[in-house]
Amino acid sequence: MQERTVYDVCIVGSGAGGGMAAYALTQAGANVIMLEAGGPWDNTGDDSAMLRPNYTSPRRGASTPARPFGEFDACIGGWEIEGEPYTRADGSSFDWWRARMVGGRTNHWGRISLRFGPDDFRRRSLDGLGDDWPISYDDIAPYYDRLDRLIGIFGNRDGLRNDPDGIFQPAPKPRCYELLVKKAADELDITCIAGRLSIITRPLNGRPACHYCGHCNRGCQTNSNFSSTNVLITPALQTGLLTLRTHAMAREVTLDSAGRANGVSFIDANTGVDEHVQARVVVLAASALESTRILMNSKSTQFPDGLANTSGTLGKYLTDTTGSDVAGYIPAMENHIVHNERGVGGGHIFMPWWLDNSTLDFPRGYHIEVWGGLGEPGAGFMGGIHRYPHGGGYGAELKQQYRQYYGTTIGFSGRGEMIPNEHSYAELDPEVKDRFGIPVLRFHWQWSDYEINQVRHMQQTFRSLVEQMGGTVFSPMPTRENGYGIATGGRIIHELGGARMGDDPSTSVLNGWCQAHDVANLFAVDGAPFVSQADKNPTWTIMALAWRASDYIMRERGARSV
Ligand SMILES: Cc1cc2nc3c(=O)[nH]c(=O)nc-3n(C[C@H](O)[C@H](O)[C@H](O)COP(=O)(O)OP(=O)(O)OC[C@H]3O[C@@H](n4cnc5c(N)ncnc54)[C@H](O)[C@@H]3O)c2cc1C
Ligand code: SF4
Repeated sequence: MQERTVYDVCIVGSGAGGGMAAYALTQAGANVIMLEAGGPWDNTGDDSAMLRPNYTSPRRGASTPARPFGEFDACIGGWEIEGEPYTRADGSSFDWWRARMVGGRTNHWGRISLRFGPDDFRRRSLDGLGDDWPISYDDIAPYYDRLDRLIGIFGNRDGLRNDPDGIFQPAPKPRCYELLVKKAADELDITCIAGRLSIITRPLNGRPACHYCGHCNRGCQTNSNFSSTNVLITPALQTGLLTLRTHAMAREVTLDSAGRANGVSFIDANTGVDEHVQARVVVLAASALESTRILMNSKSTQFPDGLANTSGTLGKYLTDTTGSDVAGYIPAMENHIVHNERGVGGGHIFMPWWLDNSTLDFPRGYHIEVWGGLGEPGAGFMGGIHRYPHGGGYGAELKQQYRQYYGTTIGFSGRGEMIPNEHSYAELDPEVKDRFGIPVLRFHWQWSDYEINQVRHMQQTFRSLVEQMGGTVFSPMPTRENGYGIATGGRIIHELGGARMGDDPSTSVLNGWCQAHDVANLFAVDGAPFVSQADKNPTWTIMALAWRASDYIMRERGARSV
């Protein structure tokens, strides 16, 4: 009989966290198997639609069920995946965006790559809400530095205390509309700085610099931006130490008689056959909520309520970023001189949180992302000509109006910090299963006044920015009854928590190394370990934590304690 391979590490999921762990562990010499529910993908080949004009398709780039962000978008997945449902408790609204492909959501993420600041790890000490992390900024800073050097990021050194600078490549210059926003922000005393995106503006580690085509979310054929697929998993495969198993849907982490993880059972999504892989260490990185689900479904006599859940906190302390948008028509941008203002596929500027909460009626803050400019026409272009002063027409008149108003829309998206609350959590649905027979998640969700008041402030700020530029907003100010336009929970796709870290095993699932308190050779390196959100996008921190956990695994394996 052929002997089965026992891998050093089994990683579940190949997105930001899984890719980072695969890179770090294989570089350090571990023999790794990665289980990925979706199929293969390669930006450098035909998979990418970079440089393909929207007009080459009769659909003009409009979205499809499997590509909700547009038919040329690089990410396969969506809010709903056939055969893989999730449910919401009565009265709760929550949407869950899932990728199903190698590289996960990093195939089309916005690449806004912000470090959490020193305050973000000790919020309870500062304002009494939520909890402190068991680690500090100083613990994670060396890993942010390593990410900057390996993956590459642009930005300016701004010296903001809670928005720490990285090791930046030069940032691209602001585009025309961004200069106008910057001027208005300066006049309103809102801090406005260069964007911080993981796109390289100078060659780095064999990858050429960005050529500013603006098609980042279609998959960069030159690898000038970051995706887990091409920047982490490709070099991991080149070590010869990574076995990548695609279409492998993990069901459960299995245990030996001593209560240690000994592998993962999974279903081949193509054949429906149940399989099992053996490993000395299991690293979950299937995304915060999917890793939480796997743990909940890994029941045994020792862990009847889900693996590593003796604290009873699995599925709790769930958060998403708060979000709200305002766009306006800016006459100053009318009939501008036609020019090529393409840049990277993302904002060249943004506004980090700039205020002191002691004068406000909500805790924590938000940052502002800016959009506008001369984007390539596609389906839904300009949101409809009826929104502009002359409101449309036919033939030559219509064409003239499109030329006149093209580029006159400028918009703002707020991305803020939610405080974890007891009404927002996930559990297993007692009845519903997916097409693999695996019980699905049921979500409970509630915003509190903290978030609603914060979003009201966003709306007021965005409206004052549009006014300062001499523009008119397209939509009336939302009311408290509709939450001031707060996005539905999950919609900002920054869902975090579910297996949070902490020093106290009775109130947390993982310790500060992303290691389960209850099972020493089990780790989670996606968004699940997060204690709080911060007013920053999470992925740079997911990867820094994943790299740090991987170093720990290799160190401790040397000492034979995991
Ligand atoms: C449109 C969009 C824009 C975004 N912009 C930003 C941004 O600008 N900045 C930022 O910081 N973040 C951004 N994000 C969020 C970012 O993409 C995520 O934080 C990040 O990808 C999370 O990494 P992850 O490894 O936890 O999960 P993912 O990247 O989702 O990867 C999880 C992987 O696990 C696989 N998987 C799931 N379940 C299983 C299973 N049971 N068995 C095997 N494999 C499984 C999935 O197929 C997937 O490949 C954005 C997301 C979207 C969708
Ligand atoms: S804008 Fe730059 S990083 Fe983005 S797809 Fe084009 S070349 Fe690649």
